[in-house]
Amino acid sequence: MAMIEFKKVNKYYGDFHALKNIDLKVNQGEVVVVIGPSGSGKSTLIRTINGLESFSDGQLIVNGMDLSDKKADLNTLRRDVGMVFQHFNLYENKTVLENVMLAPRLVLKRDEEENKKIAMKYLELVGLTEKVDSKPRQLSGGQKQRVAIARSLAMRPKVMLFDEPTSALDPEMIDDVLNVIKKIVETTEMTMVVVTHEMGFAREVADRVIFVDDGTIVEDDPAEEFYHHP
Ligand code: ADP
Ligand code: ADP
Repeated sequence: MAMIEFKKVNKYYGDFHALKNIDLKVNQGEVVVVIGPSGSGKSTLIRTINGLESFSDGQLIVNGMDLSDKKADLNTLRRDVGMVFQHFNLYENKTVLENVMLAPRLVLKRDEEENKKIAMKYLELVGLTEKVDSKPRQLSGGQKQRVAIARSLAMRPKVMLFDEPTSALDPEMIDDVLNVIKKIVETTEMTMVVVTHEMGFAREVADRVIFVDDGTIVEDDPAEEFYHHP
């Protein structure tokens, strides 16, 4: 079953044609890595999937919701489609635990005890049980990103989007974050789309690798085949 389906999607920023006739289907449970040069449209592509960017024409269906319909409810969509950004976007004045508990409490009205249990479970998955009472400013970049991942997981989404999750990190922290993402791939059935420049990661975890250039998908291959290209 297709969880994400782009049908001839175009996106313009003014006169600039950022996404050109994109056709792309991602099935439930598939892990797709998106690579390509800076400015090629990767971020625009992934941000359209949860409605952070609108598109100009074509059709995009995510988790059964038709995003070309102006009445599509993006808040409902975003309950099921989590996103992790390059720059964490944590609540700086809240503790790690509060960061993870906030959205399920407000959006899902999850029972407080249950909410804490689930938050602790995901903070354990990302290796941060020692830091639950810390504020983001007391954490390294890699730790902050792992909080952001736990926060996204706590909503129990069906789809997770990662937009260059390690690009803002010091080199020694990149593997910690990639290993957490790997663990999610191994232990869940989630559909995932990951924009990254980490080729080794792509080869290890992706079902498919998509190469974007100048607003177009120029390659869409099983991960192992992708690396046979010169
Ligand atoms: P990538 O993620 O591959 O670096 P982006 O999707 O961020 O690429 O950007 C694709 C192109 O669209 C770039 O040329 C960028 O400058 C342009 N672009 C992105 N966002 C905007 C915007 N809000 N307004 C105008 N142009 C934009
Ligand atoms: P990133 O590579 O992290 O996506 P960018 O520097 O490409 O960051 O973009 C940062 C913000 O500026 C984004 O919201 C993007 O939409 C916007 N942006 C990027 N390129 C342009 C542009 N040419 N004109 C206007 N806004 C842009």
